[in-house]
Amino acid sequence: MDTVVDALPGGVELDYPQLLGTAMAAARREAGRGQVAGYIPALAAADPEGFGMAVATVEGEVFGVGDWERPFSLQSISKLFSLALVLAAGGSGSSLWTGVGREPSGTPFNSLVQLETEHGVPRNPFINAGALVVTDRLQTLTGDAAAHVLDFLRTEAGNPAIAIDADVAASEAEHGHRNAALAHFIASHGNLENPVDDVLREYVAHCSIAASCRDLALAGRFLARHGLRSDGTRMLERSEAKRINAVMLTCGTYDAAGEFAFRVGLPAKSGVGGGVLAVLPGRAAISAWSPALDRAGNSVAAVAALDAFTSASGLSVF
Ligand code: GLU
Repeated sequence: MDTVVDALPGGVELDYPQLLGTAMAAARREAGRGQVAGYIPALAAADPEGFGMAVATVEGEVFGVGDWERPFSLQSISKLFSLALVLAAGGSGSSLWTGVGREPSGTPFNSLVQLETEHGVPRNPFINAGALVVTDRLQTLTGDAAAHVLDFLRTEAGNPAIAIDADVAASEAEHGHRNAALAHFIASHGNLENPVDDVLREYVAHCSIAASCRDLALAGRFLARHGLRSDGTRMLERSEAKRINAVMLTCGTYDAAGEFAFRVGLPAKSGVGGGVLAVLPGRAAISAWSPALDRAGNSVAAVAALDAFTSASGLSVF
């Protein structure tokens, strides 16, 4: 029997509602800072004052504050689930890790420049180029990549209402020239197994899933539970869950993963919809959302809230 609950550091007493209150107060102090993402027009309509946060423990408790049950666009956070599903479907033994690396890129999430010198092999699974390769492999393994991501989220969150936001998907597809360029370039190097249009369609669809902090924290628990799903079945080997957490820590928060690790000290994946999903291995998954982003693309208020949460609790992976 696997242990999924790790011991607390000496002297720490966890009061999640109180910690969430502290985190929300820190988030509120950031009001007015940052910009809502505008390069996907449908995202620009998000309320910059919105804020929510949730904690889902490995034992099954869920706590939340603010707009924690309000759906928002997952965007790049969905890349985490597509990666996990590829690995769960046996993708680690397939062409995945020959087609995508595991190093921080040091460039913006939608950059084209490295692909040319690195022969169409993206630096990591969380930049857009890498996520396109992951989506491609999931499409090969399942024939229905976005539907598998959606189904996983619904099941783990126990919420059949989680859905793809058709307006966001249409807006993203219409303004997706960069992603199309990335996909064609990767394909020109023989690093896509499926037609470019299919990969782009599935990628846009899973990025456009709308879910709440509550949903996200519950769906992210498998990473805190060292690879076990909420029903107790094993999705990933413990070492695979460790590896995903490691890539999140080094590459999950755009070109600011060093700063995020410095402030928060947890593996995390952010998205331009303003969400962040962080993992406290052996203890909890924590999600925070607020749409206004810093220059790197991370939510100003969500990062401040996670910073306050780990600072007040003393809990991190370090
Ligand atoms: N779907 C977005 C894109 O391809 C994801 C960006 C993000 O959240 O980092 O640009």
